[in-house]
Order: sequence, then C-alpha cells, then structure tokens
Amino acid sequence: MSDDDSEPTGSEQADIDETRGFSNLEGTDLGGEESSQGLFDDLLSGEPIFENKEVLRPSYTPHELPHRSDQINKMATILVAALRGETPSNILIYGKTGTGKTASAKFVSKELESTSQKYSVPCDVEYINCEVTDTQYRVLAQLANKFIEKNKARIDDRIEELEALLDAVDEHGAATSSDTTAGSTRNDTDAPSVSSTTDEPAANATGEPTSTHPLESTPFTDRSEIDARIEHLEEDKDSFEEVPMTGWPTDRVYSVFFDAVDYDERVVVIMLDEIDKLVEKSGDDTLYNLSRMNSELKNSRVSIIGISNDLKFTDFLDPRVKSSLGEEEIVFPPYDANQLRDILEHRSEVAFKESALSDDVIPLCAAFAAQEHGDARRALDLLRTAGELAERSQTETIVEEHVRQAQDKIELDRVVEVVRTLPTQSKLVLFAIILLEKNGVHSINTGEVFNIYKRLCEEIDADVLTQRRVTDLISELDMLGIVNAVVVSKGRYGRTKEISLSVPLEETEAVLLSDSRLSSIDDVQPFVQARFEN
Ligand code: ADP
Ligand code: MG
Repeated sequence: MSDDDSEPTGSEQADIDETRGFSNLEGTDLGGEESSQGLFDDLLSGEPIFENKEVLRPSYTPHELPHRSDQINKMATILVAALRGETPSNILIYGKTGTGKTASAKFVSKELESTSQKYSVPCDVEYINCEVTDTQYRVLAQLANKFIEKNKARIDDRIEELEALLDAVDEHGAATSSDTTAGSTRNDTDAPSVSSTTDEPAANATGEPTSTHPLESTPFTDRSEIDARIEHLEEDKDSFEEVPMTGWPTDRVYSVFFDAVDYDERVVVIMLDEIDKLVEKSGDDTLYNLSRMNSELKNSRVSIIGISNDLKFTDFLDPRVKSSLGEEEIVFPPYDANQLRDILEHRSEVAFKESALSDDVIPLCAAFAAQEHGDARRALDLLRTAGELAERSQTETIVEEHVRQAQDKIELDRVVEVVRTLPTQSKLVLFAIILLEKNGVHSINTGEVFNIYKRLCEEIDADVLTQRRVTDLISELDMLGIVNAVVVSKGRYGRTKEISLSVPLEETEAVLLSDSRLSSIDDVQPFVQARFEN
C-alpha cells in the first residue's frame, strides 16, 4: 500500500470545516479577552499524547534500525568498494513489505555519500522508486536529468575555482610589480582561498604573494590557458540537453543518460526500489541496459541495487540480467513479535509523552503486526492511529481498546483503497453482490450475481463479460478478501459457489458509488426486483 497517509479522515475533515464557520465573526470583539468561542479550548486543555508524531510516519527515516544490522553490514561490506574507486557488485534485496528494506537502503546510501564526501572520493547514489517511475523511459530520463544537474553543479564549482585562480594570478602580478617599487610591505593579501579537491589543482593563493607563483603546481602556464579552460567548461555545460518527460525515442534518452554518467570519473550506485513493479509493468529492458553499461563506460562505473517485495520476480528476467543483477543477494526476513516490540519501543520514546502508553499497548501492536507477515509499517501505523484515537477521545493514556479500534480502522482503510482501485468490471460484479445482500438474499450463487451484473452493465453501457469471466472476477474478489466464495455441492445439480460479502456493506457501497460511472445508476431497485421475478 502507498506511503501516503496524509489524507484527512472523515472526522478531521469535519473539524476543519467547523473552523471555517466565520460567518458569525461580525460583531465579535476580536481584540478583547473573549476573542474565541472556545472551539479549541477543550481540545487544548487535555494532556497531549504525542511528543513528536512525525517519527511514527512512514516518511520518517530512523537513525537506528534494530534487528537489521546483519543486512546493513552486508550492504556496507559490498559497497565499500565504491569508496576505493572500484565497482561494487550489484545487489538484489528481497523481503516482504514493511521489513525495513527501504529504510535500510536509504540509511546505507546516506552513510556512503557522506563518507565519500569526507574522503573526497567521487561517488554518487541515486534512488528511484519504480512504483512511481515505472517505465524504462521514465527511469532513464529521471537518471539522465539528475546526472546532468550534478554535472552542471560540478562544472560551476570548477569554474568558480578557476576564476579564483585568475584573481590570484592578477593579485600576484600586482603585488610583484609593487614589490619592485615599494619593497615587501604587503603581506595581508585578500585573494580568495581555493580548495583543490578536483582535477584542477589550484594555487595556494592565501600565502605570501611573492614567494610562489599561483600557477605553480597547476596544469596551467599562463592566464589565457585558464580562460580557455573556463570557456571549454561553459561549452560542456551548454551542451547538456535535459530529457523531456515524454516524446524522445528511448535510444536517445539512453545515450544522454550514458554521456551524463560518463562525464566524470566516479562510481555511481543506482538504487531501484520496488524493482518488481518496473519489471511487471515494462519488462526487463531497463535492467538489461543498465547492467551492460560498465563494458562501455570510459570514466565512470555503475552498480545497481534492486529492491523487491516479490521473491519470484527474477523468474521473469532474461538469464543474463538475472545473473548480473543477483551477484549478491540479501534477504530481509519478516520481523517476529519481539523484534517489532523493540522497534516500537525505540520510536515511542521520542514519539510519545511520558506515561502516555499503558503497558499492554506496544505488545498488542506488535502481535497484530506480526500476524500481518511481520510488517513494521503496520505496527507503526497501529501505534500512531491508536494514539490519534486516544487523543480524539481526550484521554491521557492509550489503552488496549484504542489499539483494537485502530486495527479496525486500518483494515477498513485498506478495504476502501482496494475497492476504490478495482477495475470497473470488478466493481460491477461487487455491486451486484452488494445489491443482493442488501435485499436479504442469503447464499448467493454465481448465476444470480451474473443476472444482476448484466442489468447493471446495460444500464451504464458497459461491455457484458461472459459468466465464466464473471466467475473469475468473483474469485479475484475472494483473493483480495472482499468477498467470501465457497464451493458447495448441490448433489445431482452439481456444484455451485456460495458468495457472501466479507467487508462492511455500507462503506463498500459508498466507495463504489463514488465512482462516476457507477454513480449514474440511480435506481437499482428494479434490477433486484427482477431477480425475484425470474
Ligand atoms: P519495506 O521497504 O521493506 O517495505 P520500510 O523500510 O519502508 O519497509 O519500513 C516500513 C516502516 O517501518 C518504515 O517506517 C521504517 O522506518 C520502519 N522500520 C522498518 N524496519 C525498522 C527497524 N529495524 N527499525 C526501525 N524502524 C523500522
Ligand atoms: Mg520499501
């Protein structure tokens, strides 16, 4: 599920709307003691539960990742090659959602980049979330533009250094000519200091102006050479052409990306998160192209870290890509309840006010999330939501009941999201089941669903699928946990499915009707009536 949890819930929305009721402000003495009508006073007077809620959100990257030191150390052992200027092996990271893959990978890449800066080793890490950037074109375009940006920034730095060198040369000239007339009176030159971390060694411009010439130990012999170099760099900078988000042939995008990466000597680590989504949507061409780059690059080296929720996705890869990408594999196993407890305890120290949590809250969150394949994201969501529920009920401590309510709320949110994103045909099938249930039909069978479904399709001018396809769609809804379909034997009448809804009816119906196509079905009663007449 998506990381985006910023959508306000229904009740938050209502709170906000109330505050917009400004119509009665007229005549209110805004400057006086009683400037407010107490809308927020009650809410504020309760002891707050949270100290810092942000640390429970998915967007927060923790500094500490308990129970992941093995995986983190293994990544570091492989990637340290980059800091020695060698090409690290490609890495494939596997594990179910919420097992800390993204958090660990981001932690390691931050460390890698800051260490590379510390030792002035050219090493760049680029992170791409392939769930968002899900085609070869987009991946390559995004990478190309990022490296163009980096190259331009580096060129700007170099030009700045060269200009400082020019100034130093001029200063030096002026100082030596005045030396000959007035003797060595000047020793407080304010020539800019120049760092010499790149391939343009700069002169020591801050020292005594008369002793060493600024161009000593630089590749330049005079001013004009520096000017020429600056001009050359400006030209390079202008030659980079940013890739538009659509429209170019992929070959051209690739070649711009390739040139941008190879512009400088460096090791590049490309991190492709949710890589299975990319392969599922657009095949393995991107990975093929990225993994063969090293044989053609002249200055730089590329190493790939792929992160996948799906253990079997490599089955769909070209064998060459598979072996290249999987040079090293790191598995992130699900957390057990004890590990989840540790993770939650670490975070709750920062997240909550002291004694806001009763003792059984963290163990219960951990237990629920352990049942959800050991998902730390779910555990943190539960804890945050339980805190919000406690806050709303204006109690000072979070108790077990808040966790149970949070579990129900999160489950309902999940259902709403799954139903909202169903294809129209599945929505119609589900709607048919809902209509039958609403009319008190028990042990619904596929034939009944199909009849109502057909009428609904006709009503909104949708294609009518065969009964066989509708049966498949019902099975899919079953797998998603939205309906429950059991096969029952009807003796000599053969076998049939008995279908029932396994999600709350009203909420689900509301989500279906929020789809503009379905909302045009205004009077559904006749369809269901017809079913009884058949
Ligand atoms: P994945 O990428 O495997 O789906 P994430 O790295 O996004 O999982 O982790 C899900 C959530 O759980 C994030 O908020 C992350 O900060 C947190 N998390 C996961 N593992 C740990 C851990 N070992 N310690 C602290 N927080 C963790
Ligand atoms: Mg992730």
